[in-house]
Amino acid sequence: MATVSGRAPAIVILGDGSLAAARRVQTSLAGATIHGLAGRVTGADVAFEKFGDAVRTLFQDDVPIVAFCAAGIVIRTIAPLLSDKRAEPPVVAVAEDGSAVVPLLGGLRGVNDLARQIATALGVAPAITTTGEVRFGATLESPPEGYELGNPGASKRFMADLLAGEKVRLVGNAPWLTQTRLPFDPSGRLSIVVTPHVVEAKERELVFHPRSVVVALQGGQEDLSRLVTEALVRQKLSPQSVGVVIAAERDAADAEVHAVAEALARPVRFVADGTSPSAPVGVVRDVVEGPFVGGPVALAVAALPIDVKKIGRAQGRLAVVGLGPGTHGWMAPDARRALASSEDIVGYETYVRMAGPFRGDQTVHASDNREEMDRARQALALAATGRSVAVVSSGDPGIFAMAAAVMEALHESTEPAWHGVELIVIPGISAAQAAAARAGAPLGHDFCVLSLSDNLKPWETIEQRLDHAAAADLAVALYNPTSAARPWQLSRALEILRVHRAPETPVILGRDVGRPAETITIVSLGTVSPADVDMRTVVIIGSSTTRTFPRLGGKAWAYTPRWYGKPDRKA
Ligand code: SAH
Repeated sequence: MATVSGRAPAIVILGDGSLAAARRVQTSLAGATIHGLAGRVTGADVAFEKFGDAVRTLFQDDVPIVAFCAAGIVIRTIAPLLSDKRAEPPVVAVAEDGSAVVPLLGGLRGVNDLARQIATALGVAPAITTTGEVRFGATLESPPEGYELGNPGASKRFMADLLAGEKVRLVGNAPWLTQTRLPFDPSGRLSIVVTPHVVEAKERELVFHPRSVVVALQGGQEDLSRLVTEALVRQKLSPQSVGVVIAAERDAADAEVHAVAEALARPVRFVADGTSPSAPVGVVRDVVEGPFVGGPVALAVAALPIDVKKIGRAQGRLAVVGLGPGTHGWMAPDARRALASSEDIVGYETYVRMAGPFRGDQTVHASDNREEMDRARQALALAATGRSVAVVSSGDPGIFAMAAAVMEALHESTEPAWHGVELIVIPGISAAQAAAARAGAPLGHDFCVLSLSDNLKPWETIEQRLDHAAAADLAVALYNPTSAARPWQLSRALEILRVHRAPETPVILGRDVGRPAETITIVSLGTVSPADVDMRTVVIIGSSTTRTFPRLGGKAWAYTPRWYGKPDRKA
């Protein structure tokens, strides 16, 4: 695990000089992305325009930050946002050449561990300043992965007593504690208890719960959460001690199983159908208590925290990601995060290239000739093995793109593993919105969006819809306006529109919008020629109220006023 905090860290750099060191840090932190200042850093995973805005956004999004710059700059940047020390993500400042590593914030979220990992990658010593760490080699308030502090309220006083010279009695087994420099003494007045059981903490006592309990479930039952709570109470086991929830593959889509994992805030893992989840001994080796089997719930306690990754497979995740039209600034931060946290990227080659670059630990499944449905199935099948997958579309994934294909593929499937995937659709700016923004506001009133492609629907339907849309006086955005295989369709479409609309109706041709080759042309319905349109163009035909006026620089703005059916206020 990279850090105690759940998200993969962002490594922020201001110049190419830091790139080599940043890459070394990146390879040591799972899923980390490099964010580089636009114009100064070439080859970063993510480009940003302003350091302050970028760092504050990451901080507010709870992303661990590794900033290659002066500690003072980071402090000043984040200072206005500091309020609750339990809520802040880890923040580390690293000298631009990687020669110094200073943990700044996030002491309760593993910042010292993160700093140590970074320092190891860079071959330097971290500048740890936390008293407990310095004196005893441990931050008791924030135990390492696999342990939870049962009574955090007691830690401040406990630390004060330790610093005053008190000795500690250790009850139970925790290798991480014995590796510290805490003053252990069997007759100490302070005590640390390590137990999976619910215990009433005594005066001057800290209780740590190892995440050593396996909760094995059988699906197809109602009220599993309540049964789990009762089973834990019966064995006097703390819910904080649960390390993992397991179920059989056939229950991968069981809502109750997922609800238990969510309520316990622990991962769910799926084991082969043949493995009996009611006998978690078969799944976990070092069982020291149990198994306690009661109906669909079985509990077992291992000697040490559960190594979750060694059990079965994870719940997979599939993010259907909208990349926007092309330019980086038009991609939602959530889309970028979904890409960064994915192990596999699936999509049409051009779009995958647009979404990159990707790291060496990410697998890109770019395809040119696959049908959308095949690609959707490929993405679902990958995610169903427990992987974290992103399938990408340009623009919005829900507009003539992958989201509907994924929905359909899933709807058709009876595979529990497919239905058990965590599925999320991340919207993007669609081509029509992008072209409209460049031209002004031609979609300022009612409009519709039509695809001219007759690959997936009969041409008669398209003609009918064009006719109705034009008759209804809607502005119309045409996607897939033409292609080598569909040479005459656009001319016919324009013919239909001309029946209802005046020749001077503004028409916007947006080609490669948001990409380096972008062109925006405003013509009129009377003069527009299909020769000016290709498959990388979106065509917006105005309604009867769409108008144009000159803009700075000699070109024109086009817009459709927000009112309708009222007299023109200027007239
Ligand atoms: N999901 C995409 C649309 C995919 S259909 C979206 O929401 O934008 C493909 C069609 O979209 C293309 O034929 C073209 O008409 C349009 N298109 C996609 N990206 C475009 C861009 N950057 N500039 C202009 N048109 C674009």
